[in-house]
Amino acid sequence: MITPRWLYVLAAATPVEFGDPLLCDETLEQLDLETVAAGDVVGIGIHTGNALRGYELGRKARERGAWVVFGGIHATLYPDEARQLGAAHAVVSGDGDVAWARVLADCKAAVPLAHYQGGRIAGGEFLEARWDLLPPGRYMWGSVQTVRGCPKHCSFCSVWRTDGQQPRARAVASVVSEVVQLRRRGYRFIALADDNFYPVSLTDLRLAERQGNTARLQELRAIRAERFELMRCLALLPRDLVFFTQITMESAEDPEFLDAMRAAGIRGALVGVEAVTPEGLKDVYKEFNATGEALVERLRSFREHGLHVLGSFIFGLPSDRPATFAATLELAQRAEVTFAQFVMLTPFPGTVDFKRWEETTARAAPPVAGIPIARHWLIPQALRPKVYVPHPVMGAEEIRERTQAVWDRFYSMKAVWRRSRCVPGWRGRLAFLFISKLYRQMYANTGIATDSARVSRSARWAALLARPCRRLFTAAPMPELQVPDNY
Ligand code: SF4
Repeated sequence: MITPRWLYVLAAATPVEFGDPLLCDETLEQLDLETVAAGDVVGIGIHTGNALRGYELGRKARERGAWVVFGGIHATLYPDEARQLGAAHAVVSGDGDVAWARVLADCKAAVPLAHYQGGRIAGGEFLEARWDLLPPGRYMWGSVQTVRGCPKHCSFCSVWRTDGQQPRARAVASVVSEVVQLRRRGYRFIALADDNFYPVSLTDLRLAERQGNTARLQELRAIRAERFELMRCLALLPRDLVFFTQITMESAEDPEFLDAMRAAGIRGALVGVEAVTPEGLKDVYKEFNATGEALVERLRSFREHGLHVLGSFIFGLPSDRPATFAATLELAQRAEVTFAQFVMLTPFPGTVDFKRWEETTARAAPPVAGIPIARHWLIPQALRPKVYVPHPVMGAEEIRERTQAVWDRFYSMKAVWRRSRCVPGWRGRLAFLFISKLYRQMYANTGIATDSARVSRSARWAALLARPCRRLFTAAPMPELQVPDNY
């Protein structure tokens, strides 16, 4: 669906002397190993879900005489694993934007280091992606990053640990230039792939003010001013552009910010609601969110400012009870969120939840195919169990069934049709229906189903629905489009 941004950023990080890299996104098609020759450098980016496949490719590429380099979130967390199982000559941890050129030079000189610390580079060093290398007609949405890092510390999230808690904003001109590149190619829907589009809340500012911390206050005000400047510049671009981002709920208390988002063409945002009770929020270290009626009001205020909400909810928190499922569904409907996702609490590597789970549940569980559960991503796909944080009163199957039922009810034809009133005209409503069904198909069954037959059936349906949906997202290319000169 969305352009894999990192591939095109690393293409930009490749010095001209090496030529244009061959890019392969395995969500579209598998790498043809015949294209790998001795002396090539094969960079493989992995996350936990595709690490095993990445290691297989690494070994095969090395057998063909290539230099093998791993990067990405998973390799950052487990660099030794990539060396041992993926036959990596080198692993880059952290940001690759700057480190990649050094890796290539060292491989060329046949002296790659085992480990490169890419670290957390400053926002001004983020590179513009090479969108000129995009294959035509393969993706629905473009992706541009405007800020990396998130100041929060939610227990289920690894972003603040890998990308850091200090927001690193990109130069506005560089963001605008990328958006122009994408629009020239016919992309009008663009995901602002930020960890948190709203890195400074009004509460942060009030706190710094109350503490008399002038330096901090100035820093926060500068970040906030930069966000407004970015949105002012996005507003100068063609009006048919539609942006979508991720944001914390605190932004709902900041009408000035929401209005600027709308004016910039940002039409919606994923909002991490997670839980509808104070106990649930405490479970995930997200007490800055609201609950009850205040939560409904905040979610509605996005809509009042012209922004659609994709609400993200987690089930299986220690304080959840059977009644939580219906209460969450009822709240999501009452708060008029346009889309919603309901996920089961899963211990992802790099998170606080994972560490706790690894030291307790995983340690006590028997291995599968000789592999400890704490390294479940190394278990062959056909045998790999889904792992969940154990719950004090409900079993995983009960949580899974109840979660599935919430998806089914939220995305029932009747409910989707009722929600489709949020877009004008019959065509718009039909498009809304298609997109809702596609979203549910992609994330409900494939995301939480445990049996592989159901997952592949669901993936086939998602692929079928995706074809007509893709046409809804593209627009006529604007090859002549220039970066506005009046900003
Ligand atoms: S879940 Fe969102 S708000 Fe929480 S740490 Fe991750 S990115 Fe930040």
